[in-house]
Formats: sequence, C-alpha cells, structure tokens
Amino acid sequence: MDATQVPVLIVGGGVVGLSASLFLAQQGVRATLVERHPGTSIQPRARGVNGRTMELMRALGLDDALRAASVKLGPGVGIYAGETLVKVLAEEGDGGWLMRRIRRKGLRGQPSRKSPVSPCRCTQDELEPVLLEAARARGVDARFSTELCDLTQDAGGVTAELLDRDTGARRQLRAAYVIAADGARSPLRARLGVGQTGDGVLGHLLNLYFRADLAALVKGREFSLCRVENPHLRGLFASINNTDLWVLHLAIDPAEARPSPERCVELIRHAVGLPDLAVELLGALPWQAAVRIIQGYQHGRVFFAGDAAHVMPPWGGFGANTGIQDAHNLAWKLAMVLDGRADPALLTTYDVERRPVAQAVAAISGSMGDPDGLIAVRRGLAMIWKMREIFPYLTMGYGYGSAAVVLEPGRPPGPGTTVMDGRPGTRAPHVWLERAGARISSLDLAGPGFTLVVGARGDAWPPAAGPRWPLSVVRLGVDVRDPGRRWARALGIGASGASLIRPDGIVAWRARGRAASPEAALHTAMAGVLGHAPGPERKTAPAQRKILA
Ligand SMILES: Cc1cc2nc3c(=O)[nH]c(=O)nc-3n(C[C@H](O)[C@H](O)[C@H](O)COP(=O)(O)OP(=O)(O)OC[C@H]3O[C@@H](n4cnc5c(N)ncnc54)[C@H](O)[C@@H]3O)c2cc1C
Repeated sequence: MDATQVPVLIVGGGVVGLSASLFLAQQGVRATLVERHPGTSIQPRARGVNGRTMELMRALGLDDALRAASVKLGPGVGIYAGETLVKVLAEEGDGGWLMRRIRRKGLRGQPSRKSPVSPCRCTQDELEPVLLEAARARGVDARFSTELCDLTQDAGGVTAELLDRDTGARRQLRAAYVIAADGARSPLRARLGVGQTGDGVLGHLLNLYFRADLAALVKGREFSLCRVENPHLRGLFASINNTDLWVLHLAIDPAEARPSPERCVELIRHAVGLPDLAVELLGALPWQAAVRIIQGYQHGRVFFAGDAAHVMPPWGGFGANTGIQDAHNLAWKLAMVLDGRADPALLTTYDVERRPVAQAVAAISGSMGDPDGLIAVRRGLAMIWKMREIFPYLTMGYGYGSAAVVLEPGRPPGPGTTVMDGRPGTRAPHVWLERAGARISSLDLAGPGFTLVVGARGDAWPPAAGPRWPLSVVRLGVDVRDPGRRWARALGIGASGASLIRPDGIVAWRARGRAASPEAALHTAMAGVLGHAPGPERKTAPAQRKILA
C-alpha cells in the first residue's frame, strides 16, 4: 500500500494539537491532524488563557475571537471553602468592596505594561472550536473520528497506521515528523516506551459537569472556586457561567465503583446544600491529579507536546497554556528543518527549552493541592504568597538557555525569568511603536521568520544579512518610529547595535554596538542558532541519532 506523504502529522485534536496545526500554518507548513473523537471537547476543562498564550493567539489573529468565545464564562472571583455552597455563600456574602469591584469590572482590566494583551477567561469547549475553524480555514487537514493505531520510524520518516472510526477503513500515512499531542494517557508515549518522572498520582477525581439554575443564589457573590466538605463528599465547585453551568470536582476512591448518574445528581445536591435542586448532568469525566513529566520531549522524529509531555493538577491554570506554548516553540523549528534552513540538531533544543518550564510549573501546581488532590484553600497572606509564584508565568515568565540562543555571560535565562531586558533567551520586550501612522506592539514585528532589529545608525547590519540568511530587517527610525528610543533601550542595543529575534519572539542574539565585521558576527549567530555549528550543550537524543545517521 502506497502511503500518502505529509510534512507533519499531529496526533490529537485537543487544544494543543489544534494550536500546533495553527502555528505550523503560520510557518507555511500544512499539517495533517488526526483526532479519534468525532468533535472537539465537550467538557469545559481549562478556564484560563494566560498572558503569553494570548500573545500567541494575537499573532495568529485570534485574540478577538477568543474574547468573543469567552462570554460564556461569567465573571467570578475568589476561592472559598465550607460545608455546602449555600452555607459558604451565606457566610462569605459578597466578599467586600474589592470583590464587588472586580466582579463589576471583570478581571480583564488593562494589559500589563509588559504585554499588548491581557489574559482571557475562556473554557476549553469554547476555545477548541475557534482553533479548529481557523485551522481548517488556513489549510490544515484536520481529520476527526480518525485514530492513530500504530507508528514506526525509519531513517526517512514515520509511517502511521490510521483507522477511520466511522468506516473501519485503515490506511497508511508517511510523515517527516510527528507531534504527539495525544493527551495525558498518550498512547504514543506508551507505544514508544517513553518513561515519566514526577510525584505520580496526588488524587483521583470525577469531574461532574452539570446544569442547575443557581443564578438567584449566586447573584452578587459570583465566585471562581468553592471547596465543599461534608459527610457525603469532598469536592470543589468551579463556576462556568455563574448562573446555570457548573463543574463539581469530586474526590473519589478509585477502588470503588464509579457513581451512577443518579448518584452523581444526589451528590451534586449534597454539595450545593439543596436537596430538591433540579440538576441535569451533562458529563462525568474521571481524571487524576498528578505530576508527571516525560523523560524526553523528542523520540526520533516524534515530539511530545501538551499533556502527553507533562501532566499537572489544574490549580495553577498551567496545563493547556504550557502545552500551547510547547507547540509554539516547536513549530518554527520543524518548519526550518523541513525546508532546509536549519539543521535537524535545532530540534534537540525543543526538549532543552521546554522541559524545564514544565517541571517548574508542574511543581507549583502540585504544591497547590491538598491530600484529596483538590486545591488547598489558602487564605490571606498564604494565598498572596502562593500567587507570587504563579504570576510570573502568567506574564510570560520563562526564558531559555539552549544552543538555539547565543547566551551572554551570567546565569542563563530559565523558568521564572521575568526580566525582559533584551537578553538572549528572553522574550523580546514589548513597547508600543508607530508604523505608517498606526500604533503597533514591538511583538508584532517578530515572526514568521527571524527578525533583525537594527539601531538608527546600524546601516552596516542589513547588507550583512545578505542572501544567506533570510531575515526581516527592521530599522529603528526608518521602518518604525521608536519615540524616545524606548525599544532600543529595552532591547539593550545602542544606535549602531542590532538584536536578532527568533520566530517565536525570543531574543536569539544581540550586538550592543558596532561590530568589527557585522557579516561575520551575524553569520556566527545564525549558524549557531540554526544548528549548523556545534554548540556546547547540543546533544542529539539517542533515537534521533539513529534516524539521522
Ligand atoms: C478539570 C480540569 C481543569 C483544568 N483547568 C485548566 C486551566 O484552568 N488552565 C489550563 O491551562 N489547563 C487546565 N486543565 C488542563 C487542560 O485541560 C489540559 O492541559 C489540556 O486539555 C491538554 O491539552 P492536550 O491537547 O495536550 O490534551 P487533550 O486535551 O487531552 O487532547 C488530546 C487528544 O488526543 C486524542 N487522542 C489520543 N490518542 C489518540 C490517537 N491514538 N489517535 C487520535 N487521537 C488521539 C484524544 O482523543 C484527545 O482529544 C484542566 C484539566 C482538567 C481535567
């Protein structure tokens, strides 16, 4: 049987697989995506799109669509605890003036000064259809009801065995690379025998998604999370629209039989504290609160992303966001290797850059749990202290110290890096600029390829790029107006300097001032970043070594 040949096969049409397909399309790579379910997620699951993810969505032109999709998730703030929802809301009241103000204005507020966009509260069942529609419109071959059953790798690529679950037909597909975004259980991870490290299972939970009209009870006291504990159950309410859609995370004993739908409804009534409440159960999803990180993000031509690579409790709101950001890190690297601009060695930096981020955020998420695997409700200062750990990540707090960056002396950027001073390995700083009379963010100038930003007197740099390195050149003061030299200062370059920004918005290298030979300086930087020159920690993963031989 002759197999169809595609550049990239994405396994899994969840939020990470769909995002990966869009980031590849942004790079000019038309991916094929297979998803075994007939449609996108019907469970709300993730409720938060953080600042960095919103920047990526903005670059895709999807930030407005996401905000439009977010209307279902009504405003809700505060994490509460008590015996039943009714009792908690009676005791807490409206939470005081600050809570009232936040509810009225929403949490959106003004974007941080570090970013042109603010985070967005949007549930996964609303987010995924937006991504799917955009992916199809951009040429992604997204096949639902299609399951990857087997996969083999050889020197030239990957052969995938696909099953059409509607017709039972089987066919083969050849791909140069595979992105395994096949979720926490990741059949591909199991198939390839890839191990995981971490704390393992911290709790067994059942996610009950239900409809019940609690609008009158909750009005003026709209909340985000509410922990309930009484003789019948231990659980956690997550508000969806704060009127009639809710999720109750129920702590369960895995040794006992799963509660029947009737029993689920009974437990929801006990949790709310209203024995006669009319409840429509919309879904019951078992899940484990766990911290598990895959031992390597790359196995030959297969790259793991999202929950397939890292599982963490949802309390920090990191799972989906970290997965989307994985896909963004990987897409440009695959695109440049596929068209020969980069050496396959570049791909090894995916693991070097992304695994430490997952380890850091998973550790925070794990530390937020209680013995049931539910969120530990901290009050006052304890909560503020905890949030200090989380907020850097919501505002793009990570940096990379890999061979795909020309590192400067000093401690390399890593997880939690929040200072964006133009140092290689950090996200290029955001400042507002002017182009053709319109206000743009400096972030709008990055991608889809490399961008060389040169100072007002950096005339020697543009010719140095030459035909060898396909770069977009942005001359400050010529192509964009940078009032008060704010961007040049933020990038840490003088009027004769230059800064090289990767397609993912990370600073790759900079020359603070004039270089003796701009051509040589730029050549060394580009060759190093794209894997054409040996770097100090450039390692080829074992399976990759075999395949590339
Ligand atoms: C209750 C809950 C609340 C959460 N809250 C948050 C939050 O607030 N913020 C946040 O960032 N994250 C949150 N998360 C985590 C978030 O839901 C996950 O991190 C996210 O869904 C991971 O996306 P994914 O695409 O990697 O995996 P998934 O969404 O699991 O998608 C994987 C897909 O792969 C498909 N698949 C598997 N095997 C195959 C195969 N062989 N062939 C074809 N298709 C296959 C599956 O059917 C599935 O659709 C929460 C999770 C839960 C359970």
